[in-house]
Amino acid sequence: MIRILDKNVADKIAAGEVIDRPVSIIKELVENSIDAGADSITVEIRNGGKSYIRVTDNGCGIAGEEIPAAFMRHATSKIEKVEDLDNIETLGFRGEALASICAVSRVEMVTRRAEDRKGTRVVAEESEVKDMRGTGCPEGTTITVRDLFFNLPARLKFLSSDASETRRITDMLSRMAMSYPDIRISFISGGKGVFTTSGKGNFLNNIVSIYGAETGKYLIPVTGDEDGMVLRGFVSNPSYTLSSRNRQIYCVNGRVVSSDVMRRGLEKGYRERLMQGRFPVAFLFLSVPGDTVDVNIHPAKKEVRFGDVFRVEDFISEAVARGLRGEEGVTRAVPETGPAEVPKLTAKPEIREEEKQVDIKQILSTVRHENTPQPVVREEPVEIPPVRKEFDFDSLEIRGTVFNTYIIAQNEDSFFIIDQHAAHERIFYEKMKNQYAASEKLSQQLLTPLSIVLPPDAAASEERWLPQLRKLGYGAEFFGDSTYLVREIPAFTEVEEAEDFLRDFVASLEDRIDVTDRKAIDRIIMRACKASVKGGDRLEPEEAVSLINQLKRCENPFSCPHGRPTFIRLRKYEIEKMFRRV
Ligand code: ADP
Ligand code: MG
Repeated sequence: MIRILDKNVADKIAAGEVIDRPVSIIKELVENSIDAGADSITVEIRNGGKSYIRVTDNGCGIAGEEIPAAFMRHATSKIEKVEDLDNIETLGFRGEALASICAVSRVEMVTRRAEDRKGTRVVAEESEVKDMRGTGCPEGTTITVRDLFFNLPARLKFLSSDASETRRITDMLSRMAMSYPDIRISFISGGKGVFTTSGKGNFLNNIVSIYGAETGKYLIPVTGDEDGMVLRGFVSNPSYTLSSRNRQIYCVNGRVVSSDVMRRGLEKGYRERLMQGRFPVAFLFLSVPGDTVDVNIHPAKKEVRFGDVFRVEDFISEAVARGLRGEEGVTRAVPETGPAEVPKLTAKPEIREEEKQVDIKQILSTVRHENTPQPVVREEPVEIPPVRKEFDFDSLEIRGTVFNTYIIAQNEDSFFIIDQHAAHERIFYEKMKNQYAASEKLSQQLLTPLSIVLPPDAAASEERWLPQLRKLGYGAEFFGDSTYLVREIPAFTEVEEAEDFLRDFVASLEDRIDVTDRKAIDRIIMRACKASVKGGDRLEPEEAVSLINQLKRCENPFSCPHGRPTFIRLRKYEIEKMFRRV
């Protein structure tokens, strides 16, 4: 039998589409506050928002006689006619949020417009206004939502623990606060302040207030300008990483979005600088011409689609790599614990001037793109050159070695520990890769050839692997049975290193790995450098100097190919701090 659902059931079903957990209520309420022009918003929750949510703003308020309508489905003040849909400038326009929220919880609203002497207090429950009366109250709107899903026990059961609902809310509000630096956003959970932003429009301050001063200390500025794309932001020094991508914030034309393209660009930029399973912190603000991006305003998730994904990815990865290759990118001497997963309330944001060699506020104020509908920074753009100071290898003075493993060096303001094994791996890796790519091979003849024994069928498929060996600088010839003699090895390789390498290569053939594949070759090269110079080999002073000089010529000098740092830096003032001199 087909029947028309009664209003109550229909409302609950519709509500379920908009509201699935506390975080979606908060998102809707905060967006309403933003739409109402508020520049100060306070969000308070208890039990991960399940029992209590309160959002207070200083926005335009609602006229008493319009309140019942605000709670009705498809009731909105934001659009009137179909054409308006093409020029929406508000975050909401469907007129569904308040109706949905009050279908599944107990809502109280207190609101007053600036022009009214008296405000209004409304109590609504299960889609019905239960009580409404005049009241004295501050300008703006406060909405309290209690007992979420009290009338939908099945949904209530579906919610996660208080802690994990809180985490979702913290994450969403942090992103929101990053998007709206001009709005003071304060978040209180279980009676404790989680964060409060200043609303003064300064990004670095915002990052510090939301994510803590600790995070702020390890950020490196990243800048890029190309074909109308502008990138500004911060990424963490490789010494400061997380076990998840939780703290990567991407903003496109003023909107916080999720973007696989930007994430890939970021991670490519860090290539070989991080160990497997570690993720950088990043705040990247990208501004692109409006016609090259589609920011889909899906109610739950903001996905962006770029016209030319590879261009955007490369643009970001190059900017990040540049930042990491510069002065600030040298791995710092800090325990790699990473930031706490939930941001703490920071008493006083404090960033040392020495650590920020650039005026970040000034950089970020250029983020704005002429035709972005919602500018990231509502300040006048300032033209400044991209900041990048190259690391000066020549300024290093080598002071000796310790434990036969680490080279100790210094320059004017820093103390460095260089892992000779990691450094050598890096050098060896890049030499091998360059050798492979070069048309002319740098080889040396061996007086006593090395012999390698290959799997039985290898001779028959010689044309698949012999040219690859040759490309790497190894000259081998058939000797008999499955044996080959190697008379030529790369010029920069020790005989033992060559033996290790060949053993690996033969093992790959035994494993039937297709060595004509570039990726397989990369893996073989990668494995080969593990074997190169071990820690514990004593280096003569001139060998240490030569190692540093070779590192200087590397494309990616600050980490070994597996992501371990080659360099650790301790700045002079950090040492002074440890000794309580400053
Ligand atoms: P929408 O945001 O899609 O218009 P909502 O259900 O979220 O729909 O809100 C309905 C209406 O209630 C809004 O159009 C707005 O006029 C009013 N409103 C909601 N929240 C606020 C607020 N915090 N301040 C002022 N007006 C608000
Ligand atoms: Mg809304």
